[in-house]
This record gives sequence, C-alpha cells and structure tokens, in this order.
Amino acid sequence: MNTNTISINLNTFEQMNLAPALLNALNKMKISKPTEVQTKTIPLVLEGFDLIGVAQTGSGKTLAFALPLLTLLNQKPEARALILAPSREMAQQIFKVITELCVELPMSTGLIIGGVPSAKQINQLRKNPRILIATPGRLNDHLVNNKLLLQNVEFIVIDEADRMLDMGFAPQLKNIKSTLRGTQQTLMFSATFNSAVEKITPIFMSNKAKMIRSSQSEEPVTELQQKVLFIDKFMKNDRLLDELNATKGGVIVFCGNQGSCERMSQYLKDYGYSVDMIHGGVTQGQRNRVVREFREGELRIVVATDLLARGIDIPHVDHIINFDLPFQAEDFLHRIGRTARAGRTGNAITFVTTSDLKMYKKIKPYLSGAKEITLDPNFDFTAKTQETHSKGHRNELKNIKHNKIKKSEQKKVFDSSKKLIGKPLTKTIGSIDKPTKSSVKNRNDKYKDVPRSGKSKPSVWKPNNKPTAKSKY
Ligand code: AMP
Repeated sequence: MNTNTISINLNTFEQMNLAPALLNALNKMKISKPTEVQTKTIPLVLEGFDLIGVAQTGSGKTLAFALPLLTLLNQKPEARALILAPSREMAQQIFKVITELCVELPMSTGLIIGGVPSAKQINQLRKNPRILIATPGRLNDHLVNNKLLLQNVEFIVIDEADRMLDMGFAPQLKNIKSTLRGTQQTLMFSATFNSAVEKITPIFMSNKAKMIRSSQSEEPVTELQQKVLFIDKFMKNDRLLDELNATKGGVIVFCGNQGSCERMSQYLKDYGYSVDMIHGGVTQGQRNRVVREFREGELRIVVATDLLARGIDIPHVDHIINFDLPFQAEDFLHRIGRTARAGRTGNAITFVTTSDLKMYKKIKPYLSGAKEITLDPNFDFTAKTQETHSKGHRNELKNIKHNKIKKSEQKKVFDSSKKLIGKPLTKTIGSIDKPTKSSVKNRNDKYKDVPRSGKSKPSVWKPNNKPTAKSKY
C-alpha cells in the first residue's frame, strides 16, 4: 500500500472537474473554497484511487468524499455506492448532505439505520437505490435475507473507521465485504489512524491506496480555546452552573455514562435550563428529536455520552464541557471537535479531579495551550481520591464555600439580552441533587455572587428568567 502523503493542489472547486450541478449546489450551500482535506482528496478520488483520509474532525470530510463520489456515479449510470457510518446520527447527517447536493443531480438514496422499522427500509431497498447510507449493524440484518442487496456497488465509503472498530463492527464490516462481488473503489476516513484501522485496511483497500493526512489531523483546531479546571469532585456540579451562567450559545456537556447523563440532564432541568440528553440507551425517536431541537436552537444544552462525540456537525455548538473525562483519549479529541468547526471559534472546558490522573496524562497532548486553573487549593493527584476523603475534609470544603458566599453579598448587574438562568443560593455539593424547596425560595428572595478562584470571568445570573420550552435560549 502506498501511504505517502500526497499534495495535489487544485485551489477551487471549479478546477476539480466536478459535475456542474454540484457546483450549483455548493453555491446554494454558500460553500466557495475547498478545505485542505477536500483539496487533497477530491482529485485523487476522481482519478480512481483507493484512499485513506486521516482528517481532523470538522475538516469538511463529508464533502471531500461526497463530491467526487456523486461526480463518478453521474458518469457511470449503472454503478452504486455504499456509505457506512458508525452511528445513526452520522448516517442521517451524511444522508442530509447528499440530499442537499443532489437537488440538481437526481440520485436515488436509501438510509439504512437501526432503531426504525425494517419494513419501510425493505421497500426502499427493493428499488435498488444508487446510494446506500447505512450503519453496519442494520445493513447486515438486511443482508441475511437479501444477498443481492449490494449488487453493482462499485464505491464504498467507510466513515469514522476508528469509531466503527471501537464499537465492535469489525465482523459486520468483514461480512459486508464478503458479500461484495467485483472490485470497488474504497475511501476510508478516520479522525485517528490507529493499529485497529491499519489492520482492516488490507481487507478493503488495494495496495495502491493513497493516504491523505490533513496537516492538523489528530490535533485540536487553532480556533478552539481550552480551559482545564483542576477541581474537587464535590464542587463539579456547582461549578458547572457557574460556567453555564457565564456563557452564551449552544453547549454540549459530556458525562461518563448513561446514568450520570440522565441525572445531569434532570439536575439542569430542575434549575430551569433549556436542556435535554442523548445516549445510546434512548430511543431513536428521542435521539432524532434532541439532535433536531439542538440543531434548530430550541435547546441550548445537550448532555451526552460519547455517542455524540464523533462526527455530529451542529454549527452553533460554542462550548464543550467535559464534565467527566472520556474512557478513551481519542474520544476527547472527538468531543472537542464538536465545536470550532469549519473556521468558527469555540471553547472547551475540561474538569479534572484528583482521581483522573491516568486519563489526564493521556489527553494532555490535546490540551496544549489550554489555560489551567486550579480551583481546589488542596488539589493533588497523588492524594487519595475524593471518595475516601474524611467527613471532616468535606465539612472543610463546605466552609470554604460558605465563607466565599459571605464575602460577596453585592448583587450583579443583569444583562437582559443574555437570558441567563437563576442560580440557587443553596448550592449542591457532591451528588447531583434536586434543588430543595428552600433553595428555590432563596433563589427568588436574594441573589448573591460567589467569587470563583482563578482568572475566569465571574458568573452572572438572573432571577425568574426561565426560558420557555421552545425558547431560542
Ligand atoms: P464535516 O467535517 O464533513 O463534518 O464538515 C464540517 C462542517 O464544515 C459542515 O458544517 C460543512 O458544511 C462545513 N464545510 C465543509 N466544507 C466546507 C468548505 N469548503 N467551506 C466551508 N464550510 C465547509
């Protein structure tokens, strides 16, 4: 396999020999200049090469494969294409981009994902759509009953290959490959090129495959501003409220597992935030609704597990809050890649507690340039974890917070345009608790600022300013 990095530079879409209808579609999408990965990828795909694209998240890789693929399908009316994505949301997103591109280039498409009834999909499949966009699990289910499903597939795209392998889709990928007849041009994209991806490449790719590496691949984008907060575990909930009150715009809060994701969502809802949650255990209908409402600005905050860390492209995500660290360092890169996409700016805040040392060391390379703020004066990675802290120490923490509240009793000047949420005076330390009756009463009676250590902006909040269910926050 030829894995040299290639650089063929055609600097405009017009120079690339794409189908003219696609240029019109790009115009309508207000996309005028190819990104780096598009500049490198499109000419090679049009020349017929198999390709491995290692591209930074948000680098424009969907168009990098979709534009040449549609051009080639347009030139070969009998050929079909299969695009595989690891999650239903990603498949839906690719489907949406392809539909937008095909306004003037009619091309039948089929979306084959889990979580929705098979019957409708079987009808779609009977019509032999030119482009199949699928998750590997559901496609395999259909292949059991219909071995001819992939007849005439001449192009395969495997998007987020590393994620697919992480999710255990290797057997499904191999089965899909084994049902294909003839030769296919294969494009494999991965945000990270690890040994697992390397292992499956010979199954799908010819030994003439080219490798493209976006110059910033496997690094966060420069438009991303990062902050690391070294914090006591029991102060995380409280600090989260501060951070949410101090910011505007869409936020994704990443939690470690489904349970904590649900509790966090409820916690923020109880405090009046415009929030919902998404994880692998909720129904497809709910997943779609949450992504749609978030995309359309009806929800300000989504609490998620790493299900949402990859590939989902929602332009107005301004802040990522890593409330819990991920279980895999690569997921951290994908999480922060949800913001600062396609040249926009964005912020990522990462909470690190004394028990996070192992993962913190692993994600450190992705935190270069991050502002580090130590909020816990006793922060020490070598100390015992917070669960083993004595009751005395916990009381000490409560006292520190109580004294801080006393020190600053002046009210904040409120900015009505910011629509911030009321924050209870009685603060939750430790587990994610619902606000008590007295805390809600206090919230409405009297508001006090709580100064925060470090140099970050002070939080501002406002009483009785709950957003309505459909507010644009
Ligand atoms: P992707 O990496 O494919 O998820 O794309 C990330 C975002 O970049 C999407 O919102 C695309 O619409 C946008 N995008 C892709 N290519 C370009 C481009 N050439 N110029 C501006 N935005 C782009």
